[in-house]
Amino acid sequence: MDINQDRLWYFKLHWQVLGAMLLGALTGLIFGEGAANAIGWIGDLFMRLLRMIIVPLVIASIVSGVASIGGGRAIGRLFGKTMGYYLLTSFLAASTGLIVVNLIRPGVGASLGDAVAAEEMPELDIPSSGVELLLDIVPTNVLSSAAAGDMLPIIFFSILLGAAITTLKADAPRGTLIGFFNAFFQVMVALTSGIIKLLPIGVFALITRMVGTTGFEAFAPLIRYFLTVGTGLTIHLFVTLPIVLIVLARITPAIHFKNMRNPLLIAFSTSSSAATLPVTMRTVQERVGVSNKVSSFVLPMGATVNMDGTAVFECVGALFIAQVIGFDLSLGTQVVAVMTALLASIGAAAVPSAGLVVIFIVLDAIGLGGHPQAEAIVLAMLAIDRPLDMYRTAINVFSDSCGAAIIARSEGEEGVDAEVR
Ligand code: ASP
Repeated sequence: MDINQDRLWYFKLHWQVLGAMLLGALTGLIFGEGAANAIGWIGDLFMRLLRMIIVPLVIASIVSGVASIGGGRAIGRLFGKTMGYYLLTSFLAASTGLIVVNLIRPGVGASLGDAVAAEEMPELDIPSSGVELLLDIVPTNVLSSAAAGDMLPIIFFSILLGAAITTLKADAPRGTLIGFFNAFFQVMVALTSGIIKLLPIGVFALITRMVGTTGFEAFAPLIRYFLTVGTGLTIHLFVTLPIVLIVLARITPAIHFKNMRNPLLIAFSTSSSAATLPVTMRTVQERVGVSNKVSSFVLPMGATVNMDGTAVFECVGALFIAQVIGFDLSLGTQVVAVMTALLASIGAAAVPSAGLVVIFIVLDAIGLGGHPQAEAIVLAMLAIDRPLDMYRTAINVFSDSCGAAIIARSEGEEGVDAEVR
């Protein structure tokens, strides 16, 4: 009998991944930490495979993409649109956070005495100022940036390299280099496709560990905070971004959601925009239908810079802490909170828990830096951060993909999100 594998629903990757999530949640619930310890390493292995391909994939795709754009003007225009999109949506996200936290007021009257778990803050770099953030973008040594996996310097160098290639003589040097980087890019995409086949197994292990180790006791006193962040994120995902898709590019949101289902599930399972990036790039090109030229420009940079979910979270989180402490914030300070939430989301690395670490930037700006109670509350928030991190990461990735689709349409690309593929 001739079985057409594409037609049968259980051969579809997103169903397999959803099934793996459910099975992982059940295994974690039933067997707890035992299961988490026994199979957690499989999740780590999967994350390592995804992260293994990030640096070469990003270099190959940006250089080949930028080299095919042609002249400096075109690059400048694309850069302007990309930055405009990032700032617009991150600002909308932080403002949504401000509105929901003021309406729900989850921290008012909350007592978190019992919730402070003995968690350790993960050690992640926080850029200390805007100038430092800018300096960090320019590498002093490309190879050491690549070895450390620092995305922004790698992106910066790759854009320059791609642009420089366009200035070379037509045939020999230019053609050879473009041919090389195109081929390099294709082989990285082929590698990504192979790793994606392992996805259900990786997701099963990651979710088992998440559910098996997150204690539910820490949850109760923080439930209102949890729901407030969740509400803000949901509004941004299902109201704001769809409106942006319709208004800026006349794209049907339902089609875009469907085309993006795999990266969304992976972002949710891995809590890392960076680890999801290879799949996001492949999907945005093959299913959404965006050219490599645009997607290689918008997505790698977006994974590090454009984090809408994190922006919602920073604003809600910082103002929640202020409410618990009983620290009254003037309107001016609330505006400062929105702006620094936006900056913190730009400065956050695209890895798990990064958003919670950079919340100190916002706390400093609103006058709560070094406050002992504020630090204790951040540790309590850490205890239940994982599910929020999963959700905000999915939104971070989704916003990048909307940006790629919108900018591709504005560049006259036909067929973007024309159908569910
Ligand atoms: N985990 C998020 C990401 O990778 C960042 C965050 O913690 O907010 O996009």
